[in-house]
Amino acid sequence: MTTASLLDGDALELIAGQAVDRGDPAAGAAEIVAIVDEGRLADPTDSAIALSLAAELLLEADDAAGSLALTERAIAAHRAQGSPPDFALIFRARLMFLLDRPDEAMAELVPLRPLLTEDPDAASAIANALFAGDRGEVAHEWLTEAVAEAQAAVPETEPEDDADQLPTLIFFALLSERHEVRHELGLPHDQLDEMAEALEEAVEDEQRAELEAELSRPVLFFPEAEFDELSRRLPDLARICGPTWDEHRTDLERVLTARAAEGVPVDLRLVHGSAADLAAFVEGRDVADDVIDLYVDELEGRAAGVSWPPARNDACWCGSGAKYKKCCLPRSRD
Ligand SMILES: [Zn+2]
Ligand SMILES: [Zn+2]
Repeated sequence: MTTASLLDGDALELIAGQAVDRGDPAAGAAEIVAIVDEGRLADPTDSAIALSLAAELLLEADDAAGSLALTERAIAAHRAQGSPPDFALIFRARLMFLLDRPDEAMAELVPLRPLLTEDPDAASAIANALFAGDRGEVAHEWLTEAVAEAQAAVPETEPEDDADQLPTLIFFALLSERHEVRHELGLPHDQLDEMAEALEEAVEDEQRAELEAELSRPVLFFPEAEFDELSRRLPDLARICGPTWDEHRTDLERVLTARAAEGVPVDLRLVHGSAADLAAFVEGRDVADDVIDLYVDELEGRAAGVSWPPARNDACWCGSGAKYKKCCLPRSRD
């Protein structure tokens, strides 16, 4: 592939995450800066974002001065390509505080304060900057004023259009940041904090329900004869599911074992697919990765599936005839 050396935003995030995981954020910053300097970004207008990401990594490595130099570059890159440098400016203010230049930091932040009621990401960025300068009280004052303004802008009835959700998102962001700041400052709960906590709980419940639904989706299993047939009729899909039958059952055993380890109550099941059935299903569709997901959804409607795991001494789910403990169970541990 000719674009193999060109990197997108996700690839940069991955590099950053890996560097943090191995405890060397500075190396991640250096790697990202090299990517920018060597022109290896798939989209050159990502350079401002890339430099900001590198600046965050250097701050994590306790190198505020190095982080400031990269932030200056990020701000210049934003200006060169005509994108707003606001968040890089907020980050610069945070660094100024850390570098003991509080007057410059405040001079930077004050004109950015209106952003609190314009962008849902501004609340935490600005509060972080102010806390870096030990100005929790100022953060509290700004957020309290902004949250009132934002609440007034929330429409009475829920808008149908996603684009009209912005006032609500801004209000929630301010509400929850203010709640956090008040805890930080040791202030007692007020009415807005009660609302913030109720909202946070509702969001958590929704996320838990989504996770449970995702983990409870059955996995698609092809018995050996069906898998062989699939390899003949739809080799591309067999490759996605395998590529060999042994790999297919090992994958499924591992996926199900990982889901069981998530610690949420889930109904783990396998549904049996057949090659002829899948061939009929893909007819007239694009054979892409998600065709398997669509097929599982459709199968789920008409087949109950088989519960997983079997008891250790029962016949294995894969249909080999061997006991589970001697067949697929150990495959998850290789
Ligand atoms: Zn609370
Ligand atoms: Zn088995």
